[in-house]
Amino acid sequence: MKNRIGIIGGGQLGRMLAFEAKKMGFYVTVIDPTPQSPAGQVSDYQIVAHYKDEKAIRELAEHSDFITFECEFTNAEELRALSKNGTSVNPSAKTLSIIKDKLSQKKFLKKSKVPVADFIEVKNRNDILSAANFFGYPFLLKARFDAYDGRGNALIQNEKDIDTGFGKLKGKELYVEKFVPFKKELAIMVARNTKGEIATYPVVETVHKNNICHTVSAPAPVDEIVKKRAKVVATKVMSSLKGAGVFGIEMFLTKNNQVLVNEIAPRVHNSGHYTIEACVTSQFEQHIRAITGLPLGKTDMIMPAAVMVNILGERVGAARTEGLEKALKIPHVAVHIYGKIETKLERKMGHITVIGKTINEAYEKATQARQFIVI
Ligand code: AMP
Repeated sequence: MKNRIGIIGGGQLGRMLAFEAKKMGFYVTVIDPTPQSPAGQVSDYQIVAHYKDEKAIRELAEHSDFITFECEFTNAEELRALSKNGTSVNPSAKTLSIIKDKLSQKKFLKKSKVPVADFIEVKNRNDILSAANFFGYPFLLKARFDAYDGRGNALIQNEKDIDTGFGKLKGKELYVEKFVPFKKELAIMVARNTKGEIATYPVVETVHKNNICHTVSAPAPVDEIVKKRAKVVATKVMSSLKGAGVFGIEMFLTKNNQVLVNEIAPRVHNSGHYTIEACVTSQFEQHIRAITGLPLGKTDMIMPAAVMVNILGERVGAARTEGLEKALKIPHVAVHIYGKIETKLERKMGHITVIGKTINEAYEKATQARQFIVI
């Protein structure tokens, strides 16, 4: 039996994937530049190297029957070469190369008739000024590559902000995106296995602050018609993209209840962490099932509501968790700590999920538990 999985990236997503893979008896190898990475701590073997390192990716292939990734900042060309030589790589290298460039992702979605905010490529300050004339203020200046948790975004509210934004994103390839005055942000996780079977999770609401996800509520407190629209959009996205695995689809709900796709993650995603406690099959188990050609699991929630809050770093220094005892005294609270050695401001250090009868009840418990945790 083929039972070896290779994961590119050793952060919290890799860690939670590795837990599930180990649960099902797989041998797990990860690549991450930090020794004892969150995923490395719970895997059979870690290759200490950058995610784009060709040699390391080839070494990973020697240790693996199935290759996948927890972050899209890897080497799509090397993965393409490996899959040409018969290695199982999922999601496909083609999908990865479309998605890892946020501009090509937007072009692809637009071509596939998936609704997205207007956007335009910019190469210099003059292009940005023309975009400002065209779209009006405010708008977003975004880095095309290697941007995560809003680190590659700058909100431009006036001409003065152009220089600040341009300075912040110096040296990066950029594009401009029209600001969407959304009333909510929604997300949906969808899985496809190597046999083409598809499973869709409930539509959730995500709340971001400073471009970083803070809270996820499942199911999203929106009308059924909106949920249906979000599912239709997600299905369209999935029929356009190739490859197996779990995909995170982030969306904006506009004031007139239109659904626009903000971004696709070709991988497990923060907005799906709630599935560990709240759904019959977690997104992590589902991803392992999907890439290894196993049948997909049920995605139903086991309780009517769930809330996930991220534990973000509040200082810089060595991480040490306090307050677990108090937090875990609250019924239905689950605390996940990622094992990162260093805490940093706004760094994702862990998360809390609470399942309950209503979103309000789960939210109250989750925020109370969050106040007890110091990391
Ligand atoms: P991103 O990393 O590009 O997905 O952006 C992170 C967060 O920034 C999103 O979840 C939104 O809260 C906000 N954002 C990104 N793009 C836009 C946009 N075009 N209009 C309004 N808010 C945005």
